[in-house]
Amino acid sequence: GGTIGILGGGQLGRMLALAGRAMGYRFATLDPTPDSPCGQVADEQIVAAYDDAEAARKLAERSDVITYEFENVDAGVAAMLMSESYVPQGSELLYTTQHRLREKRAIEAAGVKVAPYREIGSAEQLREAVREFGTPCVLKTATGGYDGKGQWVIRSEDEIGEAYETLSRAKTELVLEQFIHFEKEISVIAARSPRGEVQAFPAAENIHVDNILHLSIVPARASEDVLKRAERMAVRIAESMQAIGLIAVEMFLTRDGELYVNELAPRPHNSGHYTMEACRTSQFEQHLRAVCNLPLGPVELLTPVVMANVLGEHVAPLLEWMGDEAGLPDGVAAKVHLYGKHEAKAKRKMGHVNLLTDDVEKAIDWVERSPIWKG
Ligand code: ATP
Ligand code: MG
Ligand code: MG
Repeated sequence: GGTIGILGGGQLGRMLALAGRAMGYRFATLDPTPDSPCGQVADEQIVAAYDDAEAARKLAERSDVITYEFENVDAGVAAMLMSESYVPQGSELLYTTQHRLREKRAIEAAGVKVAPYREIGSAEQLREAVREFGTPCVLKTATGGYDGKGQWVIRSEDEIGEAYETLSRAKTELVLEQFIHFEKEISVIAARSPRGEVQAFPAAENIHVDNILHLSIVPARASEDVLKRAERMAVRIAESMQAIGLIAVEMFLTRDGELYVNELAPRPHNSGHYTMEACRTSQFEQHLRAVCNLPLGPVELLTPVVMANVLGEHVAPLLEWMGDEAGLPDGVAAKVHLYGKHEAKAKRKMGHVNLLTDDVEKAIDWVERSPIWKG
């Protein structure tokens, strides 16, 4: 029993609360939006800004354990919550993953490869580094980026000035990365508990459209050897960083079988939503087991699965399709999840569909032809 406090009221918090209620926990959530996706299913919602110290103290009072569902938690708020309540994930992992340079150094310290990178402090340094890496290469802000925002693919030396000037406005350090001509993107989500137990979910193959996740395909279409190496890398990172709870590891796989870690997220991850029906334990249950110091659950895959994200523009055709599930092939079952967001704005993550299938190609083909995801 007990109450779990969630900092953040989005869909990740909502799915944590839905999983945790089945386990007998109560939930309190702090988010500036009234009736947030998580607030709708929590026992109590505190509506305030994330950095509102008074509201954070209230969350701490209500909660036996506190977790977060996004990584840009203010360091001062994290410190306060840790002194007023129990935050098993600590603040170290947040501090590291909030900043691409710190994150890359921590990955390298775990003995895992990242794309070659350079810290950039001036336009002149950028020019030198671009010459060294060649084009294309990718300039990124060290903090605050998501869905490809805060980055610039430099395709020729002519763009250096504009790229530097544009990203410098973010008032954070910049990082230049060598462009990895990857064959696939994959991700592995690992969980670690305070007693030191570690489990990695099966690797997902991820397909992005406009820098937003479109499909996660499991099993990923790569060799057994690659998948085992990817899973071991995630375990190594979780252990080396002494993570508590989930840590999602995004990777690039090259044609010659090399794996490079792109970035980390110390929380449930969009590419792990497939676990909800396709694994013996979902990523949400696993996170709660970890932060509550329960034994971790088994992670094995029960069925091949394709997760398709539902963005704002997909909601209306999805709702229409749900009435008769027209065209769904034999051997494929569609599990629809919607997050209770009120405004279906274009590109906004509104839900996802887990297609449990006897053959991933069949499910991918159905998504590609479906009127829900056209255009
Ligand atoms: P997210 O929404 O996943 O947090 P983000 O804004 O933090 O995204 P990244 O994950 O770093 O950004 O990059 C977004 C996408 O851009 C990657 O998934 C990949 O497709 C491409 N990309 C990023 N870095 C590189 C690189 N060094 N080489 C090639 N492609 C890259
Ligand atoms: Mg990111
Ligand atoms: Mg990413």
